[in-house]
Amino acid sequence: MAVQQQVNKFIQGIGASPGIVIGKAYLLERFKVRLPQRRIDGGQVEEEVKRFLHAIQESRDQLTEIKEKILDPQVRKHSFILDVHVMILNDEMLLQDTADTIRKKKVNAEWALDFTLEKLDTAFNAIEDEYLRERRSDLHYVAARIFRNLLGKKHDDIAKIKGKVIVVAHDLSPADTLQMNLEHIAGFITDIGGKVSHTAILSRSLGIPAVVGLEVATSLINGGDLLIIDGETGELAINPTEEVSQSFLERKRRIKSFEREILKYASLPAETRDGVGIRLQANIEMVEEISSAKKHGAEGIGLYRTEILYLNRKDLPTEEEHFQIYRRLVEDISPATATIRTLDIGGDKFLPDYSKNNEMNPALGLRAIRFSMKETDIFKTQLRGILRASAHGKLRILFPMISGVEEIQQAKAILEEVKKGLVKAKIPFDQEVEIGAMIEIPSASVTADLLAREVNFFSIGTNDLIQYALAVDRINEHVSYLYEPLHPAILRIIRGVVQSAHQAGIPVAICGEMAAEPAYALILLGMGLDEFSMNPISIPKVKKVLRMSRFEETRSLVEQLFQFSTASEIECFVKNWITKRFPEDFIQ
Ligand code: PEP
Ligand code: MG
Repeated sequence: MAVQQQVNKFIQGIGASPGIVIGKAYLLERFKVRLPQRRIDGGQVEEEVKRFLHAIQESRDQLTEIKEKILDPQVRKHSFILDVHVMILNDEMLLQDTADTIRKKKVNAEWALDFTLEKLDTAFNAIEDEYLRERRSDLHYVAARIFRNLLGKKHDDIAKIKGKVIVVAHDLSPADTLQMNLEHIAGFITDIGGKVSHTAILSRSLGIPAVVGLEVATSLINGGDLLIIDGETGELAINPTEEVSQSFLERKRRIKSFEREILKYASLPAETRDGVGIRLQANIEMVEEISSAKKHGAEGIGLYRTEILYLNRKDLPTEEEHFQIYRRLVEDISPATATIRTLDIGGDKFLPDYSKNNEMNPALGLRAIRFSMKETDIFKTQLRGILRASAHGKLRILFPMISGVEEIQQAKAILEEVKKGLVKAKIPFDQEVEIGAMIEIPSASVTADLLAREVNFFSIGTNDLIQYALAVDRINEHVSYLYEPLHPAILRIIRGVVQSAHQAGIPVAICGEMAAEPAYALILLGMGLDEFSMNPISIPKVKKVLRMSRFEETRSLVEQLFQFSTASEIECFVKNWITKRFPEDFIQ
């Protein structure tokens, strides 16, 4: 049933993967299947259980077939998601509970499965972590497949999409995405999902523009409608007028030419006009991002967040898995260095079996290094994997959320124990592997002089440092106006940390988002930071502004900032300074 055609209609969603594209809509499954609810006789019970198990087997076979058919190596890398789906299909609770319900309540398989889903949903609803809540969608993708098999409904033949289309769906399952021929996909849009939903992660990694969380897209769009999406701003235009199309395309041309222009800086040295060099590195969460890091001119990985290795799965990564991933990381980035941060779970990300969602203040709770020191087996497994990889390329180990000397000493003691084990087992590793502390808790910054004796480098994590120093939740939109990187307190903290580090003769990096902002980068340069690490895309624009500046002028800029007593005065002064100094360049 077609909905009334929309003309020049705009909807705002969440930009999930950047890029502006125009294309015809390809609608996936507008309607959800209606589930028949039937009571059955005692004599039909075993037959019904059999029907259910048959649908499970069919679902398994389909997923295996989808996986086998993936030819594109880029796409193949993500096929582990299909394994997760097969694991869900094998889940005891899903199978046993549903079969028990069929037997006890004497209801048909669809109804029984719906009961099980409700139960599992309640369990998921209790989870506060956004990432894990998103994982509930995996369960629903799998359930939708089982339902369709039970009902004998055909699955959309996505593999057969022709032409270049924008795929429109209520939600896209990874299985859907993985079986598409990416050559035919200009973009994705979905009703639901956030920045960490599968569609978002996958499309970013594949470089396909996407907008998620549009809520009503599938109810307003007809197959074949002309769509324009902006994956950066989250805008969607349905059947736009010629004028609107032109304005989107003009913006696209401007962005492209800016990117082309800015990419010229990627391969140039990160050096000021008066010859001061800065190491610009990349923050990544998946090894697949290394190519983007290199393309944008990163001199190594300044922060490899390892949380993703633990999420999206039921079991824990094995030492071998850690080793293989880190080995690929160091080999791919060689001869540059990779900085691997040990698990920073807790706070706003939880592991399924270790959920501490009953904590009153998760950001102040069993997070990061605290979690690792409690679950030492998990910590040691990761450290063994990292150390083994150190025999294959240059890496450093970074400990997150260090609050003081005792904690770093304990972490180092465990590292030593793991090293001894490897020596005993005659497994090679870099005996001189460098270790660093994240400086993101005020107590660490105040004792930076003491901490500097314990480590080879510091990395300032301003995302958390600002939250803890200013008592402003980094993900709470109601207090975001107080989240001020140029607050006098933050500038004083950073200055103190740099001084302590340099007095002890160790380098200081910054890996918080602050470094990716060109104006802030100049201030950080003037403060004497040695290394900047940021999302790969921001590297060329930061490089450009650094190359246009002189270290001496940024030092005197910083000196002047310390005469102000409020963040707004500092912001205002910096803005004026930038406008005067770079009248031609819009670098903010
Ligand atoms: C930080 O806190 O600045 C940081 C880089 O770590 P994360 O954002 O992963 O907490
Ligand atoms: Mg942090």
